[in-house]
Amino acid sequence: MNPPLERSWSDKTPITHLKGIGKRNAERLARIGIRSVQDVLFHLPFRYQDRTRIIPISNLRAGDQAVVEGVVNGSDIRFGRRRSLVVELVDGTGALVLRLFHFSSAQQASLGPGTRLRCFGEVRNGLSALEMVHPEYSYLGHQDDGVLDLSLTPLYPTTEGMHQLSWRKTTDEALKLLESNPSLLPEWIPQPLLERYRLPELAGALRTVHRPPIDTSLELLISGRHPAQKRLAFEELLAHQLGLRNVRHRQRRLRSPALASSGYLQGRLLRKLPFCLTGAQRRVVDEISADLTRDQPMMRLMQGDVGSGKTVVSALAALQAVETGHQVALMAPTEILAEQHLRSFRRWLEPLGLEVGWLTGRQKGRARADILDSLAEGEMQFVVGTQALFQSDVRFQALGLVIIDEQHRFGVHQRMALWEKGAGAGGVPHQLIMTATPIPRTLAMTAYADLDLSLIDELPPGRTPVTTVVVRDNRRAEVIDRVRVACQQQRQVYWVCTLIEESESLQCQAAEDACKRLAEALPNLRIGMVHGRLKLAERDAVMKDFVQHNVDLLVATTVIEVGVDVPNASLMVIENPERLGLAQLHQLRGRVGRGTVESHCVLMYHPPLSESARQRLKVIRESRDGFLIAQRDLEIRGAGEVLGTRQTGEMQFRIADLLRHQFMLDDVQQAAETILAEYPDRVEPLVRRWVGAKEGYINA
Ligand code: ADP
Ligand code: MG
Repeated sequence: MNPPLERSWSDKTPITHLKGIGKRNAERLARIGIRSVQDVLFHLPFRYQDRTRIIPISNLRAGDQAVVEGVVNGSDIRFGRRRSLVVELVDGTGALVLRLFHFSSAQQASLGPGTRLRCFGEVRNGLSALEMVHPEYSYLGHQDDGVLDLSLTPLYPTTEGMHQLSWRKTTDEALKLLESNPSLLPEWIPQPLLERYRLPELAGALRTVHRPPIDTSLELLISGRHPAQKRLAFEELLAHQLGLRNVRHRQRRLRSPALASSGYLQGRLLRKLPFCLTGAQRRVVDEISADLTRDQPMMRLMQGDVGSGKTVVSALAALQAVETGHQVALMAPTEILAEQHLRSFRRWLEPLGLEVGWLTGRQKGRARADILDSLAEGEMQFVVGTQALFQSDVRFQALGLVIIDEQHRFGVHQRMALWEKGAGAGGVPHQLIMTATPIPRTLAMTAYADLDLSLIDELPPGRTPVTTVVVRDNRRAEVIDRVRVACQQQRQVYWVCTLIEESESLQCQAAEDACKRLAEALPNLRIGMVHGRLKLAERDAVMKDFVQHNVDLLVATTVIEVGVDVPNASLMVIENPERLGLAQLHQLRGRVGRGTVESHCVLMYHPPLSESARQRLKVIRESRDGFLIAQRDLEIRGAGEVLGTRQTGEMQFRIADLLRHQFMLDDVQQAAETILAEYPDRVEPLVRRWVGAKEGYINA
């Protein structure tokens, strides 16, 4: 039994209100996050089929999904690689093969010559003619009796046990309910804004997307550019924007310790550095320093290309906190990256008499207890680590600043959680977030609307640009020769192995194999190897040898993507670069060209290249500008991957697609401003509808 209908509808109205949705289906749907009628309405088709008209066979192209009608001309069992029943269908304009791999003899008998059929299926190129494999088909009598659909057929993303038919029934019910109860889904975008941005109203847009009328452009729909789809995406992006601004306001209302230092420690570090800060670094240091002296939490994102020198800027920020008696925690997403920071910070801070601690998930027992003690007592001023830093048993005496590297791999929620954990009597710690992934401006404004932005848009002087070449792997011998020559000139070389599989152990195996082959080809070189399966200490030892030039050639997996800094390395060979994304290639290549010598990157691919791989290699060969590369990456791959959020589940829109809808982002910003200023009561319902009531997004 369905529960009795409530008089007032809301975004919470459960799906069991819909006819035909019982407990079983409700449970199935809950598994994919669909609980309310509103969730059903926002569960949009990912594809459409046109079953509204009959297509003449001569108009079919491979890849089409179409309804055809015709007469069976003949049928036959073929014994190819697999036995199949081949039925030839003709309609006066041409002939089409229907191919069945599974069939009964009764079925075969019923498909004899002269039988009239209507079929629906996907057309593909067969051996001699176009064909449909296992089409849906029905028999036609003498008069035309089959009924065609009146709207395009939606196909829904689904879950086990929910068939397309159930989806159509469920969405039909939801649309009916919406029609008779408009209050189920109120229009929250104010009328003047709908007009200004030419947005159709909500209920109509939903109806169009679920049940596109016969004259709707299938092409617009499939590419997601139909005005009805744009309208929904607009509202979702708008809600997201408003939600992040709420987060921001909420954070701004909190208190943090004002870290006003005399700059003494910073001055000492600056005098010891073997270089001067670039103008961009100085500007960002000043921006951070000004933030830290305020008693509101700093929430700053420091963006800078690979090698732009973000680490030293964060060290200067750390010193400001330490000098005022506060602790600093630096968190990196991987152990390798955390280790690299540990090395840099020990090199810089220990000569100033500061202790730099290390905490990862691997530490156990006594070692861990000791560190936890000295953090809780406030003896340890600075600690570097992974997420382990923010486990519940880690306590700080006076955490003043949290530095997070590569934050795009963490989500807003993780960030907020660990930040609240640092909260103490003095308030919440300041936050500095570093990212080496340059994010195009429009995206940054959408994804990081809760942060202030600092940009290091200048590389340290004296760097010579890396020349990149793309070669086929049948030229391996030549490439190996280049390695030999570089090392004869007292330069050092990286050889990077990649693998498609996520499997770490396979990747390590590949590195070991490559290492063996290179050792045979280059007997006079000192070769080292690092991969994820080596123990920390072993890896450290090899890296140290490479840094001190006791190793000429370093064979590595992509673990060296981040962190390694050896200015004397002038050549990097990447095997099978076609397997990597643009951002990753750019990061890897950033390991060379860090000194004054001319550097090269050889991308040694294995044919055949897919179209998108070919494009990626072209982009990386032609461009060194991280921002441009990120923009192209976005175009080639889509936004979720650029932001690295596939894993974290953040920034997953139900309808919007940052790439497709990039052109709307400026309007969305503007609309958000207008709503905040003129329609503040619309903020909460919009955010609640799209982002949910997750802590922090709603209020302000
Ligand atoms: P990233 O921004 O990629 O994290 P790093 O902080 O690792 O870059 O800096 C890259 C290298 O450049 C390091 O060896 C660092 O010591 C050096 N470096 C940083 N700032 C400068 C500068 N102003 N002049 C010269 N070298 C610098
Ligand atoms: Mg770095």
